[in-house]
Amino acid sequence: MENTTTHSVKVGELDFPPRKVWLKTYGCQMNYHDTERILSHLSGMNFTRTEEQSEADLVIFNTCAVRDLANQKFYSHLGETKKLKTNPDVDPETGLKKNVIVAAGGCIAQTEGKDLISKYKQLDFAFGTDVVDNIGEMVYRAYAGDRKFAVTSWDKSENYSIETKITNGSPMAFVNIIKGCDKFCSYCIVPFTRGREKSRRLAEVVTDVKRLVEYSGVQEVMLLGQNVNSFGKDNGESLGELIMELDKVQGLQRLRYTTSHPYDVTDDLVEAHRNAKKLANHLHLPVQSGSNTVLQRMLREYTIEHYLTLIQKMRAANPEMIISTDIIAGFPNETEEEHQGTMKLLDDAQFDFIYAYTFSPRKGTKAARMNDVLTDDIRGRRLREIQEKQLKIQANIRSQMIGKTYRVLVEEKGLNKGILKWTGRTSCYRLVHFEPETQEKDYLWHWVDVEITSATALSTQGKIIRDLGKNIQ
Ligand code: SF4
Repeated sequence: MENTTTHSVKVGELDFPPRKVWLKTYGCQMNYHDTERILSHLSGMNFTRTEEQSEADLVIFNTCAVRDLANQKFYSHLGETKKLKTNPDVDPETGLKKNVIVAAGGCIAQTEGKDLISKYKQLDFAFGTDVVDNIGEMVYRAYAGDRKFAVTSWDKSENYSIETKITNGSPMAFVNIIKGCDKFCSYCIVPFTRGREKSRRLAEVVTDVKRLVEYSGVQEVMLLGQNVNSFGKDNGESLGELIMELDKVQGLQRLRYTTSHPYDVTDDLVEAHRNAKKLANHLHLPVQSGSNTVLQRMLREYTIEHYLTLIQKMRAANPEMIISTDIIAGFPNETEEEHQGTMKLLDDAQFDFIYAYTFSPRKGTKAARMNDVLTDDIRGRRLREIQEKQLKIQANIRSQMIGKTYRVLVEEKGLNKGILKWTGRTSCYRLVHFEPETQEKDYLWHWVDVEITSATALSTQGKIIRDLGKNIQ
């Protein structure tokens, strides 16, 4: 989002001189996708992004209500913005500006927008998850002098229709295909912060992706949704069908999707994993617990037996497929036996990696109202046991990568113990680090073939075999 203009642009009755926006995103990929949309709308109002909050004219927090840590971080960061407002004028030493506008969007703002506005004096406006595309109007209102408002309404239209916005110039794009969630898992706040499921039409998504590939140089697409497997249910379409259509898009190299719910994985999706050549060798399929009784209390609608059969089918459809998952340690009243069910599942499922967390109650959910006898100590101990076991499994799985060659899309470089290394992801979503052929060589967004030379549970190192450049069509 590079903008070097010095001219103002006219929006409605107001002049917008070049200004800077500082954005902080918490939580999931959906939020990162929304941040991209916000940036894209604001670029039309003469805003460029800055990484320095002290330089900003507009400060926006895109919040997450799902994880406790993200929640706490947001409140602490919001508290710190008080100083931006108490500054009487531009301080020559710190460069802090007066008249900075502070806004909060995302999941916390959706449910608590009005409270945030009255509690935090420095907060000018709050906006919910369904009005992200109206950010321009809200920023206009703020610059017109209207402050202290919250917009948390839901989009009531029957159709969900958008065009993907990208601003970062990378060949990877998030493409939202469905919003909301109808599942109401007992621990999850998402149905309250993102509303009911609504899918885009398949044809619109295909046109969108073709446009991204043709005009923006996109080569890898991540299809996004809170429950992506429900895509198209309201329109008689399906995720499997969409994947097979996108597989035909010329110039697109890789296709991923997240997040899945095991209940909604259909046979045509399994078949798509067998037949679609561009679909990545990776499935993130959150299981949450290895105990059927805990799954019932979570209202997850499947059993462990169903889950294991599903991943077996996926692996039969694509033998290269790796599976990752999410696990909640210490769900309310989880017994030692139920916890051992999760430990056993790790052996049975052989996940490539897991995201494991201790349970933390989210206000307004059923799980938050359960009388719970577990202590933080018990939860912490169970989480450690899960993580330790998984690391051993993971080290073993990844040692089998040694000697094999993987195609990697390079994302970044960095120093590792003083040695320059480039990092990219395989089709199976594993990070691979490799040393450049020469220190000067720039591999950013190149496709490279890398032979794995060593692997631990958490890190995979390799040597470059072939540099295919930025475009491999
Ligand atoms: S499927 Fe369950 S965990 Fe996932 S977003 Fe919906 S309610 Fe939350």
